[in-house]
Amino acid sequence: MSAAPRADFPLLAANPGLVYLDSAATSQKPRVVLDAMRSYYENANANPHRGAYKLSGISTEVYHDARREVARFLGAADADTLIFTRGTTESVNLLATAWGHQHVHRGDRIVVTRLEHHANFVPWQQLARDVGAEFRICELTHDGHVDLDQLRALVTANTKVVAFGHVSNALGTINDVPEIVKIAHAIGAVAFCDGAQGAPHLRVAFDDLEVDAYAFSGHKMLGPMGIGGVIVRRKLLEAMHPYQFGGDMIEFVFDGDTTWNVLPHKFEAGTPNVADAVGLAAAVRYLDALGMGVVRAHEVALSRYALERLAAIDGLHLYGPASAEARSGVVSFTLGDIHPHDVSTMLDVDGVCVRAGHHCAQPLMRALHTNATVRASFYVYNTAADVDALATSLAKAKARFHAHVG
Ligand code: PLP
Repeated sequence: MSAAPRADFPLLAANPGLVYLDSAATSQKPRVVLDAMRSYYENANANPHRGAYKLSGISTEVYHDARREVARFLGAADADTLIFTRGTTESVNLLATAWGHQHVHRGDRIVVTRLEHHANFVPWQQLARDVGAEFRICELTHDGHVDLDQLRALVTANTKVVAFGHVSNALGTINDVPEIVKIAHAIGAVAFCDGAQGAPHLRVAFDDLEVDAYAFSGHKMLGPMGIGGVIVRRKLLEAMHPYQFGGDMIEFVFDGDTTWNVLPHKFEAGTPNVADAVGLAAAVRYLDALGMGVVRAHEVALSRYALERLAAIDGLHLYGPASAEARSGVVSFTLGDIHPHDVSTMLDVDGVCVRAGHHCAQPLMRALHTNATVRASFYVYNTAADVDALATSLAKAKARFHAHVG
Protein backbone atom coordinates (compact mmCIF):
# COMPACT_ATOMS: atom_id res chain seq x y z
CA MET A 1 0.00 0.00 0.00
CA SER A 2 1.15 3.50 -0.76
CA ALA A 3 0.05 6.64 1.10
CA ALA A 4 -1.03 8.20 -2.20
CA PRO A 5 -2.41 6.52 -5.33
CA ARG A 6 0.20 6.10 -8.04
CA ALA A 7 -2.56 7.06 -10.48
CA ASP A 8 -2.46 10.63 -9.09
CA PHE A 9 1.04 11.05 -10.57
CA PRO A 10 0.98 11.22 -14.38
CA LEU A 11 4.63 10.23 -14.83
CA LEU A 12 4.27 7.16 -12.59
CA ALA A 13 0.93 6.23 -14.12
CA ALA A 14 2.46 6.36 -17.61
CA ASN A 15 5.41 4.17 -16.55
CA PRO A 16 4.02 1.25 -14.56
CA GLY A 17 7.40 -0.55 -14.45
CA LEU A 18 9.27 2.42 -13.03
CA VAL A 19 10.48 2.05 -9.41
CA TYR A 20 11.19 5.64 -8.46
CA LEU A 21 13.40 5.72 -5.35
CA ASP A 22 14.99 9.14 -5.73
CA SER A 23 12.50 11.48 -4.09
CA ALA A 24 15.18 13.01 -1.86
CA ALA A 25 16.59 14.47 -5.08
CA THR A 26 13.20 15.51 -6.41
CA SER A 27 9.68 14.20 -5.97
CA GLN A 28 7.20 13.31 -8.68
CA LYS A 29 4.29 15.72 -9.17
CA PRO A 30 0.62 14.92 -8.72
CA ARG A 31 -1.82 15.94 -11.44
CA VAL A 32 -3.42 18.57 -9.15
CA VAL A 33 -0.11 20.47 -9.11
CA LEU A 34 0.25 20.42 -12.90
CA ASP A 35 -3.42 21.40 -13.31
CA ALA A 36 -3.09 24.32 -10.89
CA MET A 37 -0.10 25.71 -12.80
CA ARG A 38 -1.80 25.33 -16.16
CA SER A 39 -4.96 26.93 -14.81
CA TYR A 40 -2.98 29.93 -13.54
CA TYR A 41 -1.54 30.56 -17.00
CA GLU A 42 -4.90 29.98 -18.68
CA ASN A 43 -7.00 32.10 -16.33
CA ALA A 44 -4.99 34.49 -14.19
CA ASN A 45 -1.67 35.28 -15.86
CA ALA A 46 -0.51 38.90 -15.54
CA ASN A 47 2.40 40.55 -13.79
CA PRO A 48 1.27 40.87 -10.15
CA HIS A 49 1.59 44.04 -8.04
CA ARG A 50 2.12 46.20 -11.13
CA GLY A 51 -1.13 46.64 -12.99
CA ALA A 52 -4.13 48.77 -12.03
CA TYR A 53 -6.32 46.48 -14.14
CA LYS A 54 -8.40 43.58 -12.77
CA LEU A 55 -6.35 40.71 -14.19
CA SER A 56 -3.19 41.94 -12.50
CA GLY A 57 -5.16 42.18 -9.26
CA ILE A 58 -6.27 38.56 -9.66
CA SER A 59 -2.67 37.46 -10.22
CA THR A 60 -1.60 39.39 -7.11
CA GLU A 61 -4.35 37.72 -5.06
CA VAL A 62 -3.49 34.26 -6.36
CA TYR A 63 0.19 34.79 -5.48
CA HIS A 64 -0.61 35.90 -1.96
CA ASP A 65 -3.10 33.09 -1.43
CA ALA A 66 -0.29 30.69 -2.36
CA ARG A 67 2.00 32.30 0.22
CA ARG A 68 -0.70 32.04 2.91
CA GLU A 69 -1.33 28.40 2.04
CA VAL A 70 2.35 27.41 2.24
CA ALA A 71 2.89 29.43 5.45
CA ARG A 72 -0.11 27.74 7.03
CA PHE A 73 1.19 24.30 6.00
CA LEU A 74 4.54 25.04 7.66
CA GLY A 75 2.90 26.39 10.81
CA ALA A 76 3.77 30.08 10.38
CA ALA A 77 0.93 32.44 11.32
CA ASP A 78 2.74 35.50 9.90
CA ALA A 79 2.61 34.69 6.16
CA ASP A 80 4.50 37.85 5.21
CA THR A 81 7.61 36.42 6.85
CA LEU A 82 7.69 33.65 4.22
CA ILE A 83 9.98 34.81 1.43
CA PHE A 84 9.63 32.89 -1.82
CA THR A 85 12.94 31.93 -3.43
CA ARG A 86 14.02 29.40 -6.06
CA GLY A 87 14.59 26.83 -3.31
CA THR A 88 16.70 25.95 -0.30
CA THR A 89 19.98 26.88 -1.99
CA GLU A 90 18.82 30.39 -2.71
CA SER A 91 17.23 30.66 0.75
CA VAL A 92 20.48 29.79 2.55
CA ASN A 93 22.42 32.16 0.30
CA LEU A 94 19.90 34.87 1.17
CA LEU A 95 20.51 34.29 4.89
CA ALA A 96 24.29 34.03 4.57
CA THR A 97 24.48 37.14 2.40
CA ALA A 98 21.83 39.44 3.84
CA TRP A 99 21.90 38.43 7.51
CA GLY A 100 25.46 37.10 7.54
CA HIS A 101 27.29 40.13 6.22
CA GLN A 102 25.40 42.36 8.63
CA HIS A 103 25.96 40.27 11.76
CA VAL A 104 29.08 38.14 11.42
CA HIS A 105 32.43 39.83 11.84
CA ARG A 106 36.12 39.02 12.27
CA GLY A 107 36.65 36.77 15.30
CA ASP A 108 33.02 35.57 15.42
CA ARG A 109 32.19 31.91 15.01
CA ILE A 110 29.83 30.08 12.63
CA VAL A 111 28.90 26.49 13.52
CA VAL A 112 27.52 23.91 11.07
CA THR A 113 27.29 20.12 11.32
CA ARG A 114 29.04 17.30 9.49
CA LEU A 115 25.66 16.25 8.02
CA GLU A 116 25.13 19.35 5.91
CA HIS A 117 24.33 19.41 2.22
CA HIS A 118 26.76 21.71 0.37
CA ALA A 119 23.89 24.23 0.11
CA ASN A 120 24.01 24.69 3.90
CA PHE A 121 27.78 24.37 4.19
CA VAL A 122 29.51 26.35 1.45
CA PRO A 123 27.59 29.66 1.90
CA TRP A 124 28.59 29.70 5.62
CA GLN A 125 32.16 28.59 4.90
CA GLN A 126 32.53 31.37 2.33
CA LEU A 127 30.96 33.96 4.63
CA ALA A 128 33.48 32.98 7.30
CA ARG A 129 36.33 33.37 4.78
CA ASP A 130 35.01 36.73 3.59
CA VAL A 131 34.70 38.32 7.02
CA GLY A 132 37.46 36.49 8.88
CA ALA A 133 35.18 34.47 11.15
CA GLU A 134 35.86 30.95 12.48
CA PHE A 135 34.02 28.14 10.68
CA ARG A 136 33.51 25.10 12.91
CA ILE A 137 31.95 21.74 12.11
CA CYS A 138 30.17 19.65 14.72
CA GLU A 139 30.99 15.95 14.23
CA LEU A 140 28.62 12.98 14.43
CA THR A 141 28.13 10.10 16.81
CA HIS A 142 28.90 6.60 15.48
CA ASP A 143 25.27 6.13 14.35
CA GLY A 144 25.07 9.32 12.28
CA HIS A 145 23.52 11.77 14.75
CA VAL A 146 24.85 15.25 15.49
CA ASP A 147 27.00 14.96 18.62
CA LEU A 148 25.07 17.33 20.88
CA ASP A 149 27.76 17.30 23.60
CA GLN A 150 30.29 18.47 21.07
CA LEU A 151 27.84 21.06 19.80
CA ARG A 152 27.43 22.46 23.33
CA ALA A 153 31.20 22.84 23.54
CA LEU A 154 31.52 24.38 20.07
CA VAL A 155 28.81 26.99 20.55
CA THR A 156 30.85 29.51 22.47
CA ALA A 157 30.05 33.12 23.38
CA ASN A 158 31.43 34.41 20.04
CA THR A 159 29.14 32.14 18.00
CA LYS A 160 26.69 34.12 15.89
CA VAL A 161 24.88 31.37 14.00
CA VAL A 162 24.28 27.63 14.16
CA ALA A 163 23.25 26.37 10.70
CA PHE A 164 21.94 22.82 10.61
CA GLY A 165 19.66 20.56 8.61
CA HIS A 166 16.32 19.25 9.87
CA VAL A 167 16.92 15.93 8.10
CA SER A 168 20.09 14.68 6.37
CA ASN A 169 19.63 14.05 2.65
CA ALA A 170 22.54 11.59 2.64
CA LEU A 171 21.75 9.45 5.71
CA GLY A 172 18.14 10.34 6.54
CA THR A 173 19.05 11.29 10.13
CA ILE A 174 16.38 13.42 11.81
CA ASN A 175 18.00 16.07 13.98
CA ASP A 176 16.81 17.13 17.40
CA VAL A 177 15.76 20.62 16.28
CA PRO A 178 14.48 21.93 19.66
CA GLU A 179 17.69 20.87 21.41
CA ILE A 180 19.95 22.44 18.75
CA VAL A 181 17.91 25.66 18.91
CA LYS A 182 18.21 25.64 22.71
CA ILE A 183 22.00 25.30 22.48
CA ALA A 184 22.22 28.21 19.99
CA HIS A 185 19.86 30.47 21.90
CA ALA A 186 21.57 29.81 25.24
CA ILE A 187 24.44 32.07 24.13
CA GLY A 188 22.35 34.39 21.93
CA ALA A 189 23.24 32.87 18.53
CA VAL A 190 20.59 32.42 15.87
CA ALA A 191 19.56 28.94 14.72
CA PHE A 192 18.93 28.57 10.97
CA CYS A 193 17.44 25.30 9.78
CA ASP A 194 17.75 23.77 6.30
CA GLY A 195 14.38 22.07 5.96
CA ALA A 196 14.81 20.77 2.39
CA GLN A 197 14.39 17.19 3.65
CA GLY A 198 12.21 18.06 6.64
CA ALA A 199 9.24 19.91 5.16
CA PRO A 200 8.33 17.15 2.65
CA HIS A 201 8.25 14.39 5.26
CA LEU A 202 7.55 15.74 8.76
CA ARG A 203 4.89 18.05 10.14
CA VAL A 204 6.66 21.39 10.58
CA ALA A 205 5.28 23.84 13.13
CA PHE A 206 7.51 26.86 12.52
CA ASP A 207 5.95 28.99 15.26
CA ASP A 208 6.56 26.27 17.87
CA LEU A 209 10.01 25.19 16.69
CA GLU A 210 11.61 28.46 17.83
CA VAL A 211 14.11 28.16 15.03
CA ASP A 212 15.01 31.60 13.59
CA ALA A 213 14.71 30.62 9.94
CA TYR A 214 13.49 27.55 8.09
CA ALA A 215 14.37 27.01 4.40
CA PHE A 216 12.65 24.59 2.02
CA SER A 217 12.37 23.50 -1.64
CA GLY A 218 9.02 23.02 -3.36
CA HIS A 219 10.22 20.35 -5.78
CA LYS A 220 11.03 17.91 -2.96
CA MET A 221 7.49 18.16 -1.56
CA LEU A 222 5.44 17.35 -4.68
CA GLY A 223 5.65 20.92 -5.99
CA PRO A 224 7.37 22.27 -9.10
CA MET A 225 11.07 23.02 -9.51
CA GLY A 226 12.09 26.67 -9.25
CA ILE A 227 10.11 27.59 -6.14
CA GLY A 228 10.85 27.29 -2.43
CA GLY A 229 11.31 29.70 0.35
CA VAL A 230 12.48 30.63 3.77
CA ILE A 231 10.44 31.65 6.80
CA VAL A 232 12.33 34.04 9.04
CA ARG A 233 11.42 35.65 12.37
CA ARG A 234 9.92 39.07 11.60
CA LYS A 235 12.34 40.90 13.89
CA LEU A 236 15.33 39.51 11.96
CA LEU A 237 13.80 40.20 8.56
CA GLU A 238 12.91 43.77 9.40
CA ALA A 239 16.46 44.48 10.55
CA MET A 240 18.01 42.74 7.53
CA HIS A 241 19.27 44.65 4.54
CA PRO A 242 17.88 43.36 1.21
CA TYR A 243 20.34 41.33 -0.86
CA GLN A 244 18.84 41.73 -4.32
CA PHE A 245 17.66 45.03 -5.73
CA GLY A 246 15.16 45.91 -8.45
CA GLY A 247 11.45 46.12 -9.07
CA ASP A 248 8.84 45.36 -6.40
CA MET A 249 11.24 45.51 -3.45
CA ILE A 250 11.47 49.31 -3.32
CA GLU A 251 9.28 51.97 -1.72
CA PHE A 252 10.84 55.17 -3.13
CA VAL A 253 13.87 55.51 -5.35
CA PHE A 254 15.62 58.88 -5.15
CA ASP A 255 18.66 59.90 -7.16
CA GLY A 256 20.97 59.21 -4.26
CA ASP A 257 19.20 56.55 -2.18
CA THR A 258 16.27 54.14 -1.97
CA THR A 259 13.80 53.05 0.70
CA TRP A 260 12.44 49.51 0.93
CA ASN A 261 9.01 48.00 0.50
CA VAL A 262 7.33 46.15 3.39
CA LEU A 263 7.69 42.39 3.96
CA PRO A 264 7.71 40.09 2.09
CA HIS A 265 8.38 42.31 -0.96
CA LYS A 266 11.62 43.72 0.43
CA PHE A 267 13.25 40.34 -0.23
CA GLU A 268 11.52 39.47 -3.51
CA ALA A 269 13.10 41.63 -6.20
CA GLY A 270 11.72 41.36 -9.73
CA THR A 271 8.73 39.57 -11.23
CA PRO A 272 7.77 36.73 -8.90
CA ASN A 273 7.35 33.09 -9.87
CA VAL A 274 3.56 33.04 -9.50
CA ALA A 275 2.75 29.84 -11.40
CA ASP A 276 5.22 27.78 -9.40
CA ALA A 277 3.97 29.29 -6.13
CA VAL A 278 0.46 28.25 -7.17
CA GLY A 279 1.78 24.76 -7.94
CA LEU A 280 3.44 24.57 -4.53
CA ALA A 281 0.22 25.63 -2.81
CA ALA A 282 -1.58 22.80 -4.62
CA ALA A 283 1.16 20.40 -3.47
CA VAL A 284 0.79 21.32 0.20
CA ARG A 285 -3.01 21.01 -0.06
CA TYR A 286 -2.46 17.54 -1.48
CA LEU A 287 -0.07 16.63 1.37
CA ASP A 288 -2.55 18.01 3.89
CA ALA A 289 -5.32 15.87 2.44
CA LEU A 290 -3.12 12.79 2.83
CA GLY A 291 -2.20 13.90 6.36
CA MET A 292 1.42 14.43 7.37
CA GLY A 293 0.99 11.85 10.14
CA VAL A 294 0.03 9.27 7.51
CA VAL A 295 2.97 10.34 5.31
CA ARG A 296 5.38 9.89 8.21
CA ALA A 297 3.95 6.52 9.32
CA HIS A 298 4.14 5.26 5.74
CA GLU A 299 7.79 6.27 5.39
CA VAL A 300 8.78 4.73 8.73
CA ALA A 301 7.13 1.46 7.68
CA LEU A 302 8.91 1.48 4.29
CA SER A 303 12.28 2.38 5.85
CA ARG A 304 11.91 -0.37 8.45
CA TYR A 305 11.13 -2.90 5.74
CA ALA A 306 13.98 -1.65 3.52
CA LEU A 307 16.50 -1.80 6.40
CA GLU A 308 15.43 -5.39 7.09
CA ARG A 309 15.60 -6.52 3.46
CA LEU A 310 18.88 -4.77 2.71
CA ALA A 311 20.59 -5.97 5.90
CA ALA A 312 19.97 -9.53 4.65
CA ILE A 313 22.09 -8.93 1.51
CA ASP A 314 25.58 -10.26 2.05
CA GLY A 315 28.26 -7.56 1.73
CA LEU A 316 25.80 -4.65 1.89
CA HIS A 317 26.89 -1.94 4.32
CA LEU A 318 24.22 0.41 5.68
CA TYR A 319 24.98 3.97 6.81
CA GLY A 320 23.06 6.18 9.21
CA PRO A 321 20.85 5.58 12.24
CA ALA A 322 19.99 1.96 13.01
CA SER A 323 16.28 2.51 13.55
CA ALA A 324 13.66 3.55 11.00
CA GLU A 325 12.15 5.95 13.56
CA ALA A 326 15.37 7.98 13.74
CA ARG A 327 15.43 8.66 10.00
CA SER A 328 13.21 9.86 7.20
CA GLY A 329 12.55 7.63 4.20
CA VAL A 330 16.21 7.42 3.20
CA VAL A 331 18.43 4.33 3.09
CA SER A 332 22.09 4.85 2.20
CA PHE A 333 24.45 1.95 1.55
CA THR A 334 27.39 0.47 -0.33
CA LEU A 335 27.43 -2.99 -1.87
CA GLY A 336 30.74 -4.74 -1.30
CA ASP A 337 33.45 -3.26 -3.49
CA ILE A 338 31.07 -2.37 -6.35
CA HIS A 339 31.20 1.33 -7.09
CA PRO A 340 27.87 3.00 -6.23
CA HIS A 341 27.64 4.39 -9.79
CA ASP A 342 27.88 0.83 -11.15
CA VAL A 343 25.22 -0.32 -8.69
CA SER A 344 22.93 2.49 -9.82
CA THR A 345 23.50 1.74 -13.50
CA MET A 346 22.76 -1.96 -12.97
CA LEU A 347 19.56 -1.18 -11.01
CA ASP A 348 18.44 1.09 -13.82
CA VAL A 349 18.30 -1.93 -16.11
CA ASP A 350 15.44 -3.15 -13.90
CA GLY A 351 13.79 0.28 -13.88
CA VAL A 352 14.94 1.03 -10.33
CA CYS A 353 15.95 4.70 -9.95
CA VAL A 354 18.36 5.37 -7.07
CA ARG A 355 20.96 8.07 -6.53
CA ALA A 356 24.66 7.27 -6.32
CA GLY A 357 27.44 9.65 -5.41
CA HIS A 358 28.40 12.04 -2.65
CA HIS A 359 24.87 13.48 -2.40
CA CYS A 360 26.28 17.03 -2.29
CA ALA A 361 27.78 16.15 1.08
CA GLN A 362 31.50 15.67 0.43
CA PRO A 363 32.57 16.66 3.96
CA LEU A 364 30.23 13.95 5.30
CA MET A 365 31.46 11.31 2.83
CA ARG A 366 35.04 12.05 3.85
CA ALA A 367 34.15 11.47 7.51
CA LEU A 368 32.45 8.20 6.56
CA HIS A 369 35.65 7.16 4.71
CA THR A 370 33.86 6.65 1.43
CA ASN A 371 33.61 8.59 -1.83
CA ALA A 372 30.03 7.72 -2.45
CA THR A 373 27.01 5.70 -1.38
CA VAL A 374 23.89 4.41 -3.06
CA ARG A 375 20.78 6.13 -1.74
CA ALA A 376 17.20 4.91 -2.03
CA SER A 377 14.62 7.43 -0.86
CA PHE A 378 10.91 6.87 -0.41
CA TYR A 379 7.85 9.04 -0.61
CA VAL A 380 4.08 8.86 -0.59
CA TYR A 381 3.73 6.89 -3.84
CA ASN A 382 6.21 4.12 -2.94
CA THR A 383 5.17 0.68 -1.74
CA ALA A 384 6.71 -2.41 -0.14
CA ALA A 385 6.76 -3.86 -3.67
CA ASP A 386 9.22 -1.07 -4.62
CA VAL A 387 11.47 -2.16 -1.74
CA ASP A 388 11.21 -5.76 -2.95
CA ALA A 389 12.18 -4.65 -6.46
CA LEU A 390 15.19 -2.82 -5.02
CA ALA A 391 16.34 -5.84 -2.98
CA THR A 392 15.86 -8.26 -5.89
CA SER A 393 17.69 -5.99 -8.31
CA LEU A 394 20.56 -5.52 -5.82
CA ALA A 395 20.99 -9.28 -5.45
CA LYS A 396 21.00 -9.62 -9.26
CA ALA A 397 23.50 -6.77 -9.65
CA LYS A 398 25.81 -8.37 -7.15
CA ALA A 399 25.71 -11.75 -8.91
CA ARG A 400 26.21 -10.13 -12.34
CA PHE A 401 29.11 -7.98 -11.17
CA HIS A 402 30.94 -10.85 -9.51
CA ALA A 403 30.37 -13.12 -12.50
CA HIS A 404 32.23 -10.50 -14.58
CA VAL A 405 35.06 -9.51 -12.26
CA GLY A 406 35.44 -12.91 -10.58
N1 PLP B 1 19.65 20.92 1.62
C1 PLP B 1 19.35 19.62 1.57
C2 PLP B 1 19.36 18.82 2.83
C3 PLP B 1 19.04 19.01 0.36
O1 PLP B 1 18.75 17.72 0.30
C4 PLP B 1 19.03 19.81 -0.82
C5 PLP B 1 18.77 19.18 -2.14
O2 PLP B 1 19.09 18.04 -2.38
C6 PLP B 1 19.33 21.16 -0.71
C7 PLP B 1 19.62 21.69 0.52
C8 PLP B 1 19.33 22.05 -1.92
O3 PLP B 1 18.03 22.16 -2.40
P1 PLP B 1 17.74 22.85 -3.80
O4 PLP B 1 18.64 22.19 -4.80
O5 PLP B 1 16.29 22.55 -4.03
O6 PLP B 1 18.02 24.30 -3.64
